[in-house]
Amino acid sequence: LKEYGITYAQVDLLEDGSFDLEGIKNAINDKTKLIHIQRSKGYATRPTLSVDVIEEAIAFVKEINKDLIVMVDNCYGEFVEEKEPSEVGADMIVGSLIKNPGGGLAPIGGYICGRSDLIEQCAYRLTTPGLGKEVGASLGVNRQFIQGFFMAPTVVNAAVKGAIFAANLYEKLGFKVIPDGKEDRHDIIQAVEFHDPEKLIAFCEGIQKASPIDSHVTPIPWDMPGYDSQVIMAAGTFVSGASIELSADGPMKEPYAVYFQGGLTYPHAKYGIIMSLQRMAEKGLVEIPEIS
Ligand SMILES: *Cc1c(COP(=O)(O)O)cnc(C)c1O
Repeated sequence: LKEYGITYAQVDLLEDGSFDLEGIKNAINDKTKLIHIQRSKGYATRPTLSVDVIEEAIAFVKEINKDLIVMVDNCYGEFVEEKEPSEVGADMIVGSLIKNPGGGLAPIGGYICGRSDLIEQCAYRLTTPGLGKEVGASLGVNRQFIQGFFMAPTVVNAAVKGAIFAANLYEKLGFKVIPDGKEDRHDIIQAVEFHDPEKLIAFCEGIQKASPIDSHVTPIPWDMPGYDSQVIMAAGTFVSGASIELSADGPMKEPYAVYFQGGLTYPHAKYGIIMSLQRMAEKGLVEIPEIS
């Protein structure tokens, strides 16, 4: 973006995970054209932003300047709530097709939707000025895109159920889980804090063992570009890198939290979670209480 003369400023969320409205107001100036909001939490143990909270933030910035464009990175959030940010004032929402809206079938890609004039501009930038959306590569995967989008709400339902199962299981074992077993959900991610590298590794090993592809592979923490610590990632997926499929990952640093997501079906998500616990039990890292 710098090469195009576009500068960027970031206003971090407050300690409790809410928007720093005062900070946002101070950061906006006459040069500000676009406000970007990320719905999911990445490797932070803050709560995910709800569509309601995003709606308030959008109203706040539009009050300052109604011409500001608001774009929401909607990754992992699609179809989890009844509304999407585009229904509460976001001018554009964007996300990945190897996550929720690809339904596990899309092999690659992302989406941009929103105001038609902005989509037009994106299309001119993506292909060529003057041609825009009239041309472009379909890569021969339109059937997977459309069928995946058709399946997506059902697949997201399975993933959310898997995340709720994981939260309840690990909460009962005494770990801090974000979100907890009962609260409302705004994306498909489930974090569990282990405060112990061995537990994080064992959890990921169990998820890998439950995978339909590469179940014989052992994930190990490694240096990855773009991260400030080693990261471990478990995924044995049909679509390489697809995190709507059963997967788990986390940075090797305090609080040694695992971020679990996906599962194309609920039974498979549940199986993966049970395998994560089994691996920890095999390594003597958890006591599984007797069930009476
Ligand atoms: C995954 C992700 C992306 C990138 O999506 P890809 O399809 O993997 O390139 C961008 N933003 C957020 C918040 C994500 O979680």
